Amino acid sequence: MQQPVDHSVFVPRQYEGFTGQYIAGRWQAGMANHTVLDRNPFDDAVLAELAQASVSDLDRAFDAAKSAHVEWAATPPSERAAVFFRAVAILDARKEEILSWLIRESGSTRIKAGIEWGAVRGGMLEAATMPAAAQGHIIPVDKPGKEARVYKKPVGVVGVISPWNFPLHLSNRSVAPALALGNAVVLKPSNDTPVTGGLLLAKIYEEAGLPPGVLNIVVGSSDIIGDAFSRHPVPRVLTFTGSTPVGRHIARVAGESSLLKRIGLELGGNAPLVVLDDADLEKAVGAALIGRFLHQGQICMSTNRIIVDASLYDRFVEAYTVAAAAVKFGDPNEPDTLVGPLCNDGQVRNVAKCIALARQSGFRECVSGAIEGRVVPPHVFADVRNDSQFARNEIFGPVAPIIRATSEAEALALANDTEFGLSSAVFTRDEARGLAFARRIEAGMTHINDITIHDYPHVMFGGEKNSGLGRFNGKWIVEEFTTDHFISIQR
Ligand code: NAP
Ligand code: MG
Repeated sequence: MQQPVDHSVFVPRQYEGFTGQYIAGRWQAGMANHTVLDRNPFDDAVLAELAQASVSDLDRAFDAAKSAHVEWAATPPSERAAVFFRAVAILDARKEEILSWLIRESGSTRIKAGIEWGAVRGGMLEAATMPAAAQGHIIPVDKPGKEARVYKKPVGVVGVISPWNFPLHLSNRSVAPALALGNAVVLKPSNDTPVTGGLLLAKIYEEAGLPPGVLNIVVGSSDIIGDAFSRHPVPRVLTFTGSTPVGRHIARVAGESSLLKRIGLELGGNAPLVVLDDADLEKAVGAALIGRFLHQGQICMSTNRIIVDASLYDRFVEAYTVAAAAVKFGDPNEPDTLVGPLCNDGQVRNVAKCIALARQSGFRECVSGAIEGRVVPPHVFADVRNDSQFARNEIFGPVAPIIRATSEAEALALANDTEFGLSSAVFTRDEARGLAFARRIEAGMTHINDITIHDYPHVMFGGEKNSGLGRFNGKWIVEEFTTDHFISIQR
């Protein structure tokens, strides 16, 4: 095991050596005979050149995890927790290096990169509590002399597939608890963010003293290693964070594995933010603005539909238009830029199609601007119909649809009329009314008088309907990444 470094006196040299794979504690190129340039989506600068994984690399990664997990599971809880405390110290010492990677590789604005860094830090601190949280039970039963115990233990190996939008956080949201609970992990980040989604996290945990083989990263094309990952016989649990169609595909392929698997799916959303007739208009406008435009709308919890009661509608549209037109867009490295570049050309095409769809449908275009490179300036469309294709899409871009509702009942029906059910919000000055409304929203998460984007490391996170299966964070993720063993003793 690598000796941990005292970070109170250590000024770190920047991480280097991102060549493709991190398997069994070794930094190495992949064997797919194919390299991919990792580029900055804002200016196309080359950040790394990565030799892609083949299926044999994937097998070696799962083999390494399978061999490493037994000793890691037997490592005392305080030693496992200590890895996360050291990782937090590393995160602090390397804050600017990490922010810079998030800005350059994933097109994060400086604001969003800071939020993501904080989320990762919080996740690591929460993970440090988990080794001691995996507790069993002794349960009374109706049989003389019988003792029923339930032991809680790690599942063994966990496979993680993560997306490019919050790469470091959404990888760590699975990786940290899985490791803390005594599992070994194989992580496949998105090929758009191989460093921030995987290799950077591995550098941090390696430096924090995680033993070789406990965390393995495979970087490769989904076309080559995707299905082999999903149907791999080693992992007992898979978590996937990404789009709904890919999530369905992965669940189907995983079903063909020789080892049955539990699958956690964190998928797409179409979050409504509902403004009732007694709402604080200014607060609602501010929340709908940040909730739509933070990270250029590329967040699963982004406000994808703004539903406003008719009595406030005209004033809301006017104020929102003024606010959206003033949003700073462009260079993500400038401290006050709210809208930076989209992650890749495919996303630019998708968002451009959404804008074209809104125009074809004749919705009122209140704010727009020319797309430059991968930067899409804020767009606002009013008088949108909830049943239009435009409103049904998860836009995943800086485009805000505003929908009029004639009553509270209609607002609720519109909010629920979607295949998704991840996040949502409602604005009202009457807390009891807000709570009653929130409880009738078909979603995993609803926020009263706040933005739709919240992810706390100790609070349940997850979706209903086609937004996913399973629950993340805190005690909920402890259940995902452990299994229970009933052992009885007859005396
Ligand atoms: P995506 O296209 O579904 O990709 C997600 C991950 O799956 C990436 O690592 C991708 O790798 C990989 N992948 C793609 N095809 C695969 C296959 N056949 N087998 C195995 N892996 C495969 O999603 P995305 O475009 O990266 O992310 C955007 C979506 O994620 C949105 O729908 C968003 O709402 C959702 N999301 C949900 C949450 C949540 O917590 N609910 C959080 C963030 C994002 P490559 O990129 O290399 O192909
Ligand atoms: Mg890139």
